[in-house]
Amino acid sequence: MLDNSFISSQLIDWFESHKRDLPWRGINDPYKIWISEIILQQTRVNQGWDYYTRFIERFPDVKTLADAEEVEVLKYWQGLGYYSRARNLHAAARMIMEQFDGKFPEDYDSVLKLKGIGEYTAAAIVSFAWNKPYPVVDGNVFRFISRLLGINEPIDTGVGKKLFTQIVGKLMNPKHAGAFNQAIMEFGALQCVPASPECNICPFAEKCYAYNSNQVINFPVKQNKVKTKTRYFHYFHIRFQDYTYLNKRTGRDIWQNLYEFPCIESEEPLSFEQLQQTEEFKKLFPEPNHGKYKLVVSGKKHVLTHRILYANFYEVILNKEPDSLSAFMKILSKDLDIYPIHRLMQFYLER
Ligand code: SF4
Repeated sequence: MLDNSFISSQLIDWFESHKRDLPWRGINDPYKIWISEIILQQTRVNQGWDYYTRFIERFPDVKTLADAEEVEVLKYWQGLGYYSRARNLHAAARMIMEQFDGKFPEDYDSVLKLKGIGEYTAAAIVSFAWNKPYPVVDGNVFRFISRLLGINEPIDTGVGKKLFTQIVGKLMNPKHAGAFNQAIMEFGALQCVPASPECNICPFAEKCYAYNSNQVINFPVKQNKVKTKTRYFHYFHIRFQDYTYLNKRTGRDIWQNLYEFPCIESEEPLSFEQLQQTEEFKKLFPEPNHGKYKLVVSGKKHVLTHRILYANFYEVILNKEPDSLSAFMKILSKDLDIYPIHRLMQFYLER
C-alpha cells in the first residue's frame, strides 16, 4: 500500500538529485514563473529557454510588458505558436497594472481571474512563489499518477481533471508545496516519460500499478472526442515593384492578429488550374494576365491542435496593380520582418 508521505518524500528526494538546471529554477518572482510556465506549455525546454531569456530581457517585469505594444509582444513570441497566449499575457499584465497597482496578486483566486491563467498556471505561480498548497496537474503529472495508482478515469474530461487534482492535492505535503509541485512535474517529464520509461531504475518500481501489471503503455486513458479538421491554404506572395502585400488575421480563428500574405482557403486540395476557377481567385486577380504565377511551395503540412493545415505558396510578379489589392496592407518587401507572422509564413520566408 502506498502512503502519501512516502510518495511526497520520494519525489522531493528524487528531484533534489535529478532536477534540470533551468533559468527559471529556484526563482520566486511570480512574473518570471508565469512567463516560464506559459512558454513551457507549448514548447520543449531547450527551445523555451531561448524564448524565455529573450522575453525576460526585453520585458523584465509586469510594467514593461504592459507598456509594450501588442505587435511587439507577438514579435517576441513568433515561432512559439498559440499566439492567443501572448495576447493574453499582454492583457493580463495590463490588468495587473490597473487592478493591482502593478503588484502581482498573491491569492490563488485573484491570479485565476487574470486573462489566460487557468488552474494549472495559477497553482504553479502561487506554489512556486509563495509555497501555497495548490496542486499542479499537467500532462506529465496525469501520466505519472495514472500509472502509479492505476487510475482508469480519462484525463481529458472535466471529471477526470477534478479527480486527479484531488488526488495530487492529497499527496502534497503543504509545508513543501512548491518543492512537491516542481518535483512531480519534473518526475513526469524526465522519469515517467510517455514512451518506454526506465521503470527498472524508478523509485516507485515496486509499488507502481502499471509497471507491475505490465500496462505502462495503457496509461493515461483518454476519451479523445475531438475530431481533427483539415484545411488547405493557398498563399500569394505578390510582388509589385518594391512592394508586397499583407493581411492581418482577425476574427475568432487561428493566428489572430498575425500577418500573412493574401490567402485563399479551400476545403480540399486544389491545383493551380482549379484555384484559378474559384470566385476568390477571380476577385483577387481580376486580370490574371497582368502577372506571372509560380508555385514555390507545395503542400507544406503544418499540424496544430485539432487541425492539419496544408499550404501552397505562389510567387506572383505583377506588372500592374489591381484595385483588389487595396484591401491589403501594402508594404516595402524589405520591411517584411517587422511584422509578427505565423510558422507557415516563417517557413516560407526562411526556406
Ligand atoms: S515504474 Fe515506470 S510507469 Fe511506474 S511510475 Fe515509475 S517510470 Fe512511471
